[in-house]
Amino acid sequence: MKLPSVTFLFVIGVLCATEGYAHDSPYTQEDKVDLSSADVLEDELNNGSLWARGLKKKEWSYKGKKGDDMTSSKGECGIDYCEAKQISLGGMKSCLKEHFDHLSNLYFPDDGDDYNLARYTAFSVSRYPAAIVYVEDVEEVQHALKCAVDNGYKVSARGGNHSYQGLATMDGYVVIDIGRTCKPDEFVVDKTDQGPHILEGSKYIGTIKAQAGCTNAIMLAAGHEHFGEDGGMTLAGGCPSVGITGYVLGGGAGNISPYVGYGVDIVKEFQLVLHDGTVVKASENENSDLYWASRGGGGGNGIVTHLTYKIVQAPKQKYEEDLGRKFTLLNLRMVIKDVDKAAKRIMEWFYDADPLITGKFGGGFFWGKGPGSYGESIFVIFVFAYLGSWREAVEDLKVTGLLDDDIFTIVSYPEQSHGNVILSEDYEVLCTSDQTCPQFENGKLSSAYEFNSYAEVEL
Ligand SMILES: Cc1cc2nc3c(=O)[nH]c(=O)nc-3n(C[C@H](O)[C@H](O)[C@H](O)COP(=O)(O)OP(=O)(O)OC[C@H]3O[C@@H](n4cnc5c(N)ncnc54)[C@H](O)[C@@H]3O)c2cc1C
Repeated sequence: MKLPSVTFLFVIGVLCATEGYAHDSPYTQEDKVDLSSADVLEDELNNGSLWARGLKKKEWSYKGKKGDDMTSSKGECGIDYCEAKQISLGGMKSCLKEHFDHLSNLYFPDDGDDYNLARYTAFSVSRYPAAIVYVEDVEEVQHALKCAVDNGYKVSARGGNHSYQGLATMDGYVVIDIGRTCKPDEFVVDKTDQGPHILEGSKYIGTIKAQAGCTNAIMLAAGHEHFGEDGGMTLAGGCPSVGITGYVLGGGAGNISPYVGYGVDIVKEFQLVLHDGTVVKASENENSDLYWASRGGGGGNGIVTHLTYKIVQAPKQKYEEDLGRKFTLLNLRMVIKDVDKAAKRIMEWFYDADPLITGKFGGGFFWGKGPGSYGESIFVIFVFAYLGSWREAVEDLKVTGLLDDDIFTIVSYPEQSHGNVILSEDYEVLCTSDQTCPQFENGKLSSAYEFNSYAEVEL
């Protein structure tokens, strides 16, 4: 079976690195509240709520505003915010207050800055939920859900809060934030649960059952702790703070996807709370329709409380002296001599080459055109995450035609770092510039960092 070929995650990585800026200025972009949820406030409308009336009249707009809405251009208390404060939340509010501590894990629109912090979305999409509840376990999910449903409110589950569209924090909904459920000490690690995986010869060597509120970084660390020595790999994307649940529900791609598949391919089982509060498991053998719907459909079928991840083993090394399951980050820069041939060769690499070889390469490449370090030339920069040693990587690149010197000329590049977060000291910096990188037949790598296992490095 052919798996998704080399993934390209750099742009996303840059966004992850810069998202902190959004925290500082949540209203720097033109921002209009989504009116699609106005129907859930029908009740409020009937009761004469100003907030609902505002939504109904499509007057709920933040266009052109700067700064916090509480001290907006409209004066000390922006009129829109004042309107929001007047919502009568009725039974939902008192029900939630019975179970949750107001202002430590429960927030309403009249809670001022605390509410503004809690409703914050990673990419400055301005949303005004009716309540935000931080739950810590399955029972609390059930309580929060019941309070919302019994009082006619819609619910949105929130994990790592990294939805670009702010989909976890909807206007007028009760947001159930599961971030505080993450408890790595309570992960269930099963090393007896093993079996074949997608590519011929590949296998998973155990499972980790994690709470849905964890992030990709936590899963990487857990994979390293429990399966690092055996070459176990945890699939993650380019941003460590992305939530595992939103990531998997949306598909989930990462640098090792060419070998292990997407996030949906490594989840063996979901545990969910359904709309009526019942707790169910969904796997290939149990509630299989729910299992399939949760694999890439983007959620909405219940609140996921746990995911059981398959830990796939990295491919074995070819050489005796490279015992173990090495992992290399390598950088290769080449000027293109023949653009047509190069484009064809790269497409063949994606679609026709042996997946047991190309499946070991993750990462991506850039095309560029001078003027620049290489004059007016067209050049390509490969930044690979390779499941093996650097020596094997070079051999595989050669076999698949990416080093052919009638198409590409390898060029040099000044010193550079790997740019990744490293989880262990147990790795070798092979070289950081072409001055020190090992020579092979027709050139040198621009940099190479060799690790003793994939689990040691966060991508
Ligand atoms: C900087 C950045 C880098 C990224 N890099 C990658 C990448 O490399 N590869 C990739 O595949 N994707 C990537 N993504 C996309 C990311 O996987 C999605 O945005 C994902 O939905 C975020 O999940 P979350 O839990 O953090 O977000 P949230 O905003 O909390 O949730 C996203 C969606 O999932 C739902 N959801 C969350 N938790 C639950 C739950 N417990 N039960 C039911 N529904 C739930 C929410 O309701 C919402 O609809 C990136 C995103 C960002 C912002």
